[in-house]
Amino acid sequence: MRTAIIVGGGIGGLAAALALHRAGWQVDVLERAPEFGEVGAGLSLWPNAFRALEVLGLDGSVRQRSVLAGQAGIRDPKGRWLSHSDTADIERRYGPTAMIHRAELLDLLRSALPAAALHSGITVHRVQADGTLHHSDGTCRGDLLVGADGIRSVVRASLWGNGITPRYAGYTAWRMVTDPVAVSEGSETWGRGARFGYAPLADGRVYCFAVANAPQGAADPGLAGLRRRFAAWHDPIPALLAATASDAVLRHDLYELPPLPTYFKGNAALVGDAAHAMTPNLGQGACQALEDAVVLARSLDGGGLSAYDRLRRPRTQMIAARSRRIGAVAQWASPAAVALRDTALRCAPRRTFTRSLAPVLSWTG
Ligand SMILES: Cc1cc2nc3c(=O)[nH]c(=O)nc-3n(C[C@H](O)[C@H](O)[C@H](O)COP(=O)(O)OP(=O)(O)OC[C@H]3O[C@@H](n4cnc5c(N)ncnc54)[C@H](O)[C@@H]3O)c2cc1C
Repeated sequence: MRTAIIVGGGIGGLAAALALHRAGWQVDVLERAPEFGEVGAGLSLWPNAFRALEVLGLDGSVRQRSVLAGQAGIRDPKGRWLSHSDTADIERRYGPTAMIHRAELLDLLRSALPAAALHSGITVHRVQADGTLHHSDGTCRGDLLVGADGIRSVVRASLWGNGITPRYAGYTAWRMVTDPVAVSEGSETWGRGARFGYAPLADGRVYCFAVANAPQGAADPGLAGLRRRFAAWHDPIPALLAATASDAVLRHDLYELPPLPTYFKGNAALVGDAAHAMTPNLGQGACQALEDAVVLARSLDGGGLSAYDRLRRPRTQMIAARSRRIGAVAQWASPAAVALRDTALRCAPRRTFTRSLAPVLSWTG
C-alpha cells in the first residue's frame, strides 16, 4: 500500500489525508499541537469548497452543521447599502455558500479518518525531498510527503529554502464568536481603513470579524478598543461587540506568501497555506486547501505531482492576487478615495459581483 505522511492537522492537512485515504493510501498526519482541534472562529465555504467536500463525502454533513448564506452585501458605517450580493443567483449558478464554525469542519474531517492516522504532539523539524521526515519523536519516511503546515511551513523552508518570507498585508484582523444574538443574515461594512463583518452560525451565535490598517506588530487595542472604534457604526455592530467575551477574540496581523515557482519537489508537495497563504478578503484560503486536497489525490493516480502543480498553482495564485486587490480597495483610508469607491459600489449592477466571482466559484475539479 502507498504511504503518505502529512505534516500539519489543519483543514489542508486533514483534507489531504482524507482524500488520499479514500484513494487507498495509508496516511499518517503529524500535528505539533498537543491535541487536534482549534479554538478558531467562523469560516465561509463557497460553492467551490462544497464541490471539493462532495468528493470527500462530507458535503451533506457540512451543510447540516452550517448556515446557508442569505442575502448579503456591503454597507457603509451608517448602515446604507453600497451593494447587495445576489446569493440566490450565486446558488443557482454555482451551488451553496455557507458559514460554519472552523472547529465543526475540523471535527468532521477528523471523524472521517481512521483514529490511528492522527498523531498529535509531534513537531516536524526538517524534511527531505525523498519523503524522509525528522521530527520530535524520531525519523520516518513515506512514499509521499505533504506539507500542510501553514504559512510558516517547515516543509517549505526545508525544501524551498528560507528565502520565501510571508509579506505583511498592511492590516490586522480580529475574529470572534459572540454569545447567541438574533441576527437573520450577514453583511460586511466598509469604512475608512477599517471593516466589520458578521454572519450567523448554526447554533445562534454570530461570527464577527474586524479589520483595520495598522503597522505590523502594533499593540492590540483589545475588545475595549474595538468597542470604542466601532461604537458609532450601524446596528447590530455595537451590540455584537457587547455580546462578545474578551477571551473569544483572536487577533492576527494578516500575511500572504509571495507566489512560489512550484508546489512540489521530489516526493513532497505543499497544500493550503504552506503553498499559497492568501489574505482572507475573498474567504477562499480554506476553500482552496480543500480543492488542493482533492486534486492532489486525483493527480497521484494520473500525471503525478507535476500535474498537481500544473492544476493548482495558476489557480491559487490568481485567487491570492484577486484577494490582495480587493483588500487594498476595502482598506482605503483617504476620504476622497473612499467616496469614489462607495459611489462605484452603489452604481455597479447587482450581477457584477456574481460575475466577478465566476472564475473562483465555477471550479469543478
Ligand atoms: C482572519 C482570517 C479569516 C479567514 N476566513 C476564511 C474564510 O472565511 N474562508 C476560507 O476559506 N478561509 C479563510 N481564511 C483562511 C484559512 O483560515 C486558511 O487558509 C486555512 O486555515 C489554511 O489551512 P492549512 O491547513 O493550510 O493551514 P493551518 O490552518 O495554518 O494549519 C497548519 C497546521 O500545521 C501545524 N504545524 C505547523 N508547523 C508544524 C510542524 N513543524 N510540525 C507539525 N505540525 C505543524 C499547525 O499546528 C496547524 O495545525 C481566513 C484566514 C484568516 C487569517
